[in-house]
Amino acid sequence: SHRLPDRVVIVTGGARGIGAAYVRALHAEGARVVVADLLVDEGSALAAELGERARFEPLDVTDADAWERVVAATVRAWGTVDVLVNNAGIANAGPLEHYTRAKWDAVIAVNLTGTFLGCQAVVPTMRAAGRGSIVNISSVEGLFGSEGLHGYVAAKFGVRGLTKSIAVELGRAGIRANSVHPGWIDTAMTAKIDPSRLPIPLGRGGTPDDLAGTVVFLASDDSAYLTGAELVVDGGMTA
Ligand code: NAD
Repeated sequence: SHRLPDRVVIVTGGARGIGAAYVRALHAEGARVVVADLLVDEGSALAAELGERARFEPLDVTDADAWERVVAATVRAWGTVDVLVNNAGIANAGPLEHYTRAKWDAVIAVNLTGTFLGCQAVVPTMRAAGRGSIVNISSVEGLFGSEGLHGYVAAKFGVRGLTKSIAVELGRAGIRANSVHPGWIDTAMTAKIDPSRLPIPLGRGGTPDDLAGTVVFLASDDSAYLTGAELVVDGGMTA
C-alpha cells in the first residue's frame, strides 16, 4: 500500500541529482509529481519515463511569476498542491575578501529567496485545502559555519529559520513545514571531498537514496505531528 496515494507534490530542482531521487521515491509511493526545474530536457525526460503521474514544468525558483504559472498549471491538471519540496540549490565558495557580491546574490537568490517564493506561491492553495506539507532542503551548512561558503551557509541557515516562522504561522491552517539537513551526499557538488576523511560515525558518505526516505516521511501523514523540526540526515557527522 502506498504512503502518498495521489498526493500532489512539486519538487524543485527535480530534474537531476538528489531532487531526481526525491521525485522517484515520491512517485513510487503513489504521489503525482511535478518536476520543476530550469533543465527542460532532463526534467521532461524524467517525467516522461515515470509516465501518467508525473509532469514537468519549467521553473526558475527566483521568478515569482514563474511560480504562479507552475502552481496554476498543477491545480489545473491535478486539482491541488499537497506537498512542496524546495530542493533547488546552488553552491559557490571563496575567501571572504574575494567573495563577490555577485556570488552572494546568486546563492541567496536561489537557495533562500527561491524557497520563500515557493512557500508563498503554494500556501493559498494549501490553506484552501486545509492541509499541506512544505519540505525545505537546507544542509548541515545550515547548522554550523564552513570556510569559504559564506553565502551558502547564510542561505541554508536562512532556510532553517524561514521554515520555523512558516511552521509557527501556518500550523493552525493545517500546513506543516520542516527542514532537512543533509550531510555529505555523493553528487557533483561534493565530488572533490573524500568522505572517508570526514568524521562520519556510520562510516560512509550518503547517497541521494539515503535522503529520499526522510522526504517521503515528511510528505506523508506519518509525520502528521511534526512541524518546525529540523531533520539532520548526515550519518551522525554532527552528533
Ligand atoms: P544539483 O546541482 O545536482 O541539482 C540541483 C538542481 O536544481 C538541478 O537540477 C538544477 O537545474 C536545479 N536548479 C538550480 N538552480 C535553479 C533555479 N534557479 N530554478 C530551478 N531549478 C534550479 O544539486 P544537488 O547536489 O542535487 O543538491 C540538491 C539540494 O540539496 C540543494 O539544495 C543542495 O544545497 C542540497 N544539499 C546537497 C548536499 C550534497 O552533498 N550534494 C548536501 C547538503 C544539501
